[in-house]
Amino acid sequence: MNVWAMNMERFSRQIRFAPFGAEGQKNLRDATAVIVGCGALGTVQASLLARAGAGTIHLIDRDYVEESNLQRQLLYSEADARQGLPKAEAARRHLLDANSEIRIEAHVSDLNPENVDDLLSGANVILDGTDNFETRYLINDYSVREGVPWIYGAAVGSYGIVMPVLPGDSACFRCVYPEPPMGAQPTCETAGVLGPVTSLIGSLQAMEAIKMLSGRSESVRRKIFTADLWHGPIRETGMSARDPDCACCGRHDFVHLNGRRAPVSLCGRNAVQIHEIRRPIDLADLASQLEGLGTVRSNEFALRFTLRQHDGNYEITVFPDGRAIVKGTTDIGVARGIYARYVGN
Ligand SMILES: [Zn+2]
Repeated sequence: MNVWAMNMERFSRQIRFAPFGAEGQKNLRDATAVIVGCGALGTVQASLLARAGAGTIHLIDRDYVEESNLQRQLLYSEADARQGLPKAEAARRHLLDANSEIRIEAHVSDLNPENVDDLLSGANVILDGTDNFETRYLINDYSVREGVPWIYGAAVGSYGIVMPVLPGDSACFRCVYPEPPMGAQPTCETAGVLGPVTSLIGSLQAMEAIKMLSGRSESVRRKIFTADLWHGPIRETGMSARDPDCACCGRHDFVHLNGRRAPVSLCGRNAVQIHEIRRPIDLADLASQLEGLGTVRSNEFALRFTLRQHDGNYEITVFPDGRAIVKGTTDIGVARGIYARYVGN
């Protein structure tokens, strides 16, 4: 039986929308979307794209589901948080419940200069579900170098912003933000964030992605959308033209693709990510080594080890590729020390 013919009914309501149509549906089926970050924005993007029938979706996320995610990260359940599942894997499972006929790949990983070519290759569009400028500059460099569009989105408090980047056509991210913002920025941990805002921003990103993937890029809104859903206005402003001197899309100086990353302190989260260490770790082995030293919980995707020390409590989550998140400190040295002491390097 022709599987495709069988399933047109599933998409009948969007095919009925004339600018999308049956051709848009087929184009979408043949397309690949990469979602970087499976938090509040990424789960909304992924849910809408999977249900719409995007043929291949790659999910990239380095984190695991926690109870405090459930207020806005629409794909996850209490069971995911209890099990400490990696977000990419939990999202993949829930997306397949909604549409089992598409291909979904979960990458429990941190997008960085070393793996960016592997993880983003084949993308027809990249959706930003990250929470930091460093990763956005990396995505932007890749996007401009490879000519793959991406859609910037961010939300904090009651505020959100969306901007599509169409390489060779619109301004790129570095045309608009040549430098990251100075000083401490509000984060979802320090300033909070509201679910309707992240859902709105994720939806707008998914909308522009569906236009691109269905072959209707001419309909992409070449605007910067901003909204403050609690205090302020909802606005669209025209995007500035491309800056001919832009280091990225003008001079092709892809500095972020060439960088090597040091451990990062996860802003506002009292945690440090150790991601420069790359070597496979057998989590079952490690679990038995740590037995008796603290509380250990592990599955095939991650191991969580809680440690009480005289100077505080720490929680280390170790992933099979050697990466780890150390909670309980923002001091990179302390985090490295704990990693070295309990995981080894
Ligand atoms: Zn530029």
